[in-house]
Amino acid sequence: MIKYFCAHDGNSTRIACEYPNECPICTSKISPNLLMESLNKDIQLASLFFVCPSCGKGFVSHYMYDSTNELKYGSYMHKHLVYLNSFPSIPNQIEFDNCINNLSPNFCEIYNQAHASEIYNLNQLSGIGYRKALEFLIKDYCVYKHPDKVDKIKSTLLGQVISNYIDSTNIKNLAKISSWIGNDETHYVRKFEEKDINDLKRFIKATVAFITYELTSDEACALVNE
Ligand SMILES: [Zn+2]
Repeated sequence: MIKYFCAHDGNSTRIACEYPNECPICTSKISPNLLMESLNKDIQLASLFFVCPSCGKGFVSHYMYDSTNELKYGSYMHKHLVYLNSFPSIPNQIEFDNCINNLSPNFCEIYNQAHASEIYNLNQLSGIGYRKALEFLIKDYCVYKHPDKVDKIKSTLLGQVISNYIDSTNIKNLAKISSWIGNDETHYVRKFEEKDINDLKRFIKATVAFITYELTSDEACALVNE
């Protein structure tokens, strides 16, 4: 919905623009309250400072401010601002099945931090984060399967844990390829040049899916045996 206000950049300027309809912090659908605005003709930028009525936090939206871009609203000519973006931009949370949350809360936390680093364009760190998340997922899964080998699993290199403590061929292959691509993200020289972080995420996602199926199946089995 188009909103109108007067901006005071030396003169009083009639402005028309579309307010953001979603809070970039809490993602609620909102009609934000405008606190103040700043128009900069030199860099053709308008910065509007809003407060979200849902979470109460403030955010800034940037608009392209072109003084020649005028439109008639009502009886008056208005400078028309074109929306660009809003800050801070909070990364969305990647949700996992409850059984994965219970199996490896560390995996869920680290995976979400890696995801956040991608949103913030920290691309050199994201792969390392996904590789670390994978290690927690696999080791926590192996501890679940072999509760008597906790100390050994925790202290052994990931590659050996995958080889020695995973029975499922599907999970073993997925974990193996994920760890290989993940290692490339942490080392100076890449071994799999044709694979990238998107392949790593794809393989981790499939690993999570197979582990979820297995844990759900174990739960059903336990209920049947009761
Ligand atoms: Zn909010």
